[in-house]
Amino acid sequence: MSARDIRQLVPGVATSDGAGVRLRRSLGQNQAARLDPFLMLDAFSSDDAADYIAGFPDHPHRGFETVTYMLDGHMLHQDHLGNRGDLKSGGVQWMTAGRGIIHSEMPQQTEGRMRGFQLWINLPAAEKMKPAGYRDISPEEIPQEPLPGGFIRVIAGELRFGDETLRGPVHGLSTDPLFCDITLEADTGCEIPVPETHNGFLYVFEGGLEVAGREVPTHSAAILAEGDRLIARAGTEGARFLLLAGKPIHEPVVQYGPFVMNTKEEIEQALSDYRAGRLTVA
Ligand code: MN
Repeated sequence: MSARDIRQLVPGVATSDGAGVRLRRSLGQNQAARLDPFLMLDAFSSDDAADYIAGFPDHPHRGFETVTYMLDGHMLHQDHLGNRGDLKSGGVQWMTAGRGIIHSEMPQQTEGRMRGFQLWINLPAAEKMKPAGYRDISPEEIPQEPLPGGFIRVIAGELRFGDETLRGPVHGLSTDPLFCDITLEADTGCEIPVPETHNGFLYVFEGGLEVAGREVPTHSAAILAEGDRLIARAGTEGARFLLLAGKPIHEPVVQYGPFVMNTKEEIEQALSDYRAGRLTVA
């Protein structure tokens, strides 16, 4: 029984993706900055439409899951399966690329704030070629509970606080992800159970946090060491952060852009399938 220390700080670096959307990449900015089963975390936040208006036109994925969490704004998802999903403030889109999906994510606003995240979670070899899946999760489906000096939203997994269990809408995945959004007022602390079997990290996107005597500044990820809980304290500006944990897959990861497989040969197969229009075909 021990609280988790910080193993590594990963400050978000400015980059752009899609057709020119400006974002900050923490996990996934290079191959060393990953945490099995998590591949990447991008944060986007801008009041300037020029930073997001180009969106993410049609593009493919294979071999993993993408999770988009919108804090502010409105995007429209469309994919080759015919899914159309309106992604609005506080909502989540959980997409399993499996063998292949081709989709677009386009802003439905020409002004105002667009703010949110995209997380990539790996799939084990046995599931990389399963059929694609897509789920829209409305803000109302995400439980929000008070904490002393703040509150927590649970998007995936479950948390036990004493006799109470807080269960997010996403369950039953082999990586058993825990995905929480935690808000703390200035100078308040929290203690959140994190399963010992899981790798965990957090990402501070408002204010600052102290964990095990180390500061985690705004726009930084902190990869956590082993332990069974997170003990964190907000600084004088308060804090808002994502807490993520998942069961490691322990398999080789070979990534080429939007394809994440186990071997180079499987990546070559994905590329040739995509070029031949067979990426999504069973
Ligand atoms: Mn995508």
